[in-house]
Amino acid sequence: MRTAIYPGSFDPVTLGHMDIIKRSANLFDEIIVGVLNNSAKNALFSVNERVSMIKELTKDMPNVRVDSFDGLLVDYCKKQNANIIIRGLRAVTDFEYEIQIAQTNKVEYPDIETVFLTTDLRYSYLSSTIVREFASYGGDITRFVPESVIPLVEAKYKA
Ligand code: ADP
Repeated sequence: MRTAIYPGSFDPVTLGHMDIIKRSANLFDEIIVGVLNNSAKNALFSVNERVSMIKELTKDMPNVRVDSFDGLLVDYCKKQNANIIIRGLRAVTDFEYEIQIAQTNKVEYPDIETVFLTTDLRYSYLSSTIVREFASYGGDITRFVPESVIPLVEAKYKA
């Protein structure tokens, strides 16, 4: 059984994230989408909100599970018996950061393998930060996030 963890902040989940989830679900037996409970980050959505958003979007994907974690990713991987980490790569700027993290994780947990999926061209510019920024100025985010996520984001900025 090959279990892979796709970790991230997903604040909020974008079409780019959904594309990576779908593609990795075709590659591995089980995918755990791990929503990072990062208290240091000033998040728009609570961890519970982010988890339930992604659960709803993946309810028809039988091998995808959604969970949250805090602390070190490698510790979470060990706990879940997963030795594969999925990350998405958009641009060279992602690469520098990602390779450093992947190598650090390998030092901490030699059996871990980080698998990088290249972004779909349609989403190469897309990030949660862009979505939040755009939405905060009342921009149209229909091309950036799944339909069910649009009203949730808009509600945050109306509040
Ligand atoms: P983090 O805060 O850990 O960077 P994110 O929620 O921003 O988490 O992203 C989680 C993962 O998804 C990262 O590996 C990131 O590179 C990837 N990702 C984000 N947006 C896209 C996209 N548009 N296309 C492909 N991968 C993406």
